[in-house]
Amino acid sequence: MGLKGAFARHASNTRRSLAKSGIVAAVFFIVFISVTLFLIDHQRTQYQHKIETRTQKFAVNYLDNLQEMMQQIMPLTGKSCEKVQSDLTYRAAFTAGVRTFVLVKDGFAYCSSATGNMMLGMSYIYSEIDWRKPLDMALQEGTPMVPEKPAVAVWLRQPGPSNTGILATLDLTLTPYLLLNSRDRDTPGFAIVIGNHAVTTFDSNMMPLAKLPERYTSQVAVPGYPLSMIFYHQSLTANDMRFTVLGSLVLSLMVGVLYYYMQILRQSPELALMRGIKRNEFFVEYQPVFHTASSTIAGMEALIRWQHPSEGRIPPDLFIPYAESEGLIVALTRHLFRMIVADIPQLAQALPRGAKLGINLAPSHLNAPSFHDDIIELLAEVPTNHFTVVFEITERGMVEEQNALEEFDWLHSQGVEIAVDDFGTGHSALIYLQRFTLDYLKIDRGFVNTIGQDTATAPVLDAVISLSKKLQMLTVAEGVETAEQVSFLQERDVNFMQGYYFSKPLGIEDFVAFCQNNAAFDYQAAVNP
Ligand code: C2E
Ligand code: CA
Ligand code: CA
Repeated sequence: MGLKGAFARHASNTRRSLAKSGIVAAVFFIVFISVTLFLIDHQRTQYQHKIETRTQKFAVNYLDNLQEMMQQIMPLTGKSCEKVQSDLTYRAAFTAGVRTFVLVKDGFAYCSSATGNMMLGMSYIYSEIDWRKPLDMALQEGTPMVPEKPAVAVWLRQPGPSNTGILATLDLTLTPYLLLNSRDRDTPGFAIVIGNHAVTTFDSNMMPLAKLPERYTSQVAVPGYPLSMIFYHQSLTANDMRFTVLGSLVLSLMVGVLYYYMQILRQSPELALMRGIKRNEFFVEYQPVFHTASSTIAGMEALIRWQHPSEGRIPPDLFIPYAESEGLIVALTRHLFRMIVADIPQLAQALPRGAKLGINLAPSHLNAPSFHDDIIELLAEVPTNHFTVVFEITERGMVEEQNALEEFDWLHSQGVEIAVDDFGTGHSALIYLQRFTLDYLKIDRGFVNTIGQDTATAPVLDAVISLSKKLQMLTVAEGVETAEQVSFLQERDVNFMQGYYFSKPLGIEDFVAFCQNNAAFDYQAAVNP
């Protein structure tokens, strides 16, 4: 179908193009949505990973600094609370995130930066801290001093046998940097885990580890400390979906429409034809025309051919009328002239002097502004001492084109001859042709076909032949296919014959070979063996 159908109907197959465009748009939609969602997810994961490492670094840094500070305070553990308390309070106040520093000696907390003198068993304050470890941490809902406020305890033991060291209580709400990260729009959740407890960004209360939500997490340890962090990743949100679907929908719609127009354009016979000229998809075939009396080749008719790369051969009966109706015939005919001119050297070798070079002319070309220039250009390239150019114009064209009479005169003045093509098929009064001085009548093959047949049109052939004689024109019978037709036409003194009986239209190489082998076609022998 495709182009051929398009030529036949002069309209492209809209339905099929629409369906194809729909499929293209749908495929684009699916691919685009998948790729976009994948990219969003991928980018988010990468970003998340960056936040994780940054937070981890921050935590390590913070705890290292804290530890260093605690080491500096360590020498205070031997001294009385009265002496050191102001120093201790000062240090606590200027260490970010620290609620209190507590000095511990021999298992008893005896001095707090917040409350001064005290005497409490360490295990009473933080039951979960392992005091024997050089460093330990615990997470607790509150302390006896500040209940109901999640606190992180950091225990730093002084090396030695006695349970002596420093206990720092960190205010989790006062660790803004850690929590700031978790408020990042791409980090929907965050938890700090110490032992079996966790503080999270989605609950102000402490949570047992077992109760933490499990999905979309990655756990990051803080090296050197009994602490880890859990990050809750964001999966694709409803908003992601909404925007992606909407965007893809709009884009695929555009793609579909674009594809549709591309198809229409590609199927456009007009474009295909012009492209065909540019890409040399056209070529010429030559069909020999025989002199009836001498049985020698009198000349040939040039017939244009179109070998489309995907549609195959497109018959001239389809594209010539189309080219005429769309105003492309002049461009096409000029192209034909160029192709014939290119073959002239070979044609001149194959054919004797005086040979007729028949070229079909579309009637509308006669009124084209470039008509004279086109013809003059062609004739400049054709050796007129060797060939006589014969333009074949349909009877219909002669009657319908306004300036036909003047143009025929002009053509004659240029030394060319004129043949009435498809004679007998037009609706015009034949007598009308008397006004013109024309050289040949090509009897349409529809009449030649009736020879030997008992049809209603059969007698018309005789009438056509006798009329052409009365008009004093030479006759050419086209579409001669059988020996019976040959002898019939001989008897009626038809001057020239052309048809498959002698030869089909041939490419230039084959045509030259044919001429060399059949300089005198022995059809007499074929007819009267
Ligand atoms: P047409 O000018 O009447 O051309 C003769 C047509 O009859 C050609 O068809 C030719 O191949 C075919 N033919 C020749 N001998 C026989 C035969 O023995 N039996 C049968 N059945 N057919 C035979 P084609 O080449 O398909 O051309 C069709 C029409 O297209 C032509 O009719 C002509 O009107 C137009 N055409 C072809 N080439 C050109 C061209 O270069 N320029 C213009 N303007 N029209 C062309
Ligand atoms: Ca013709
Ligand atoms: Ca014809």
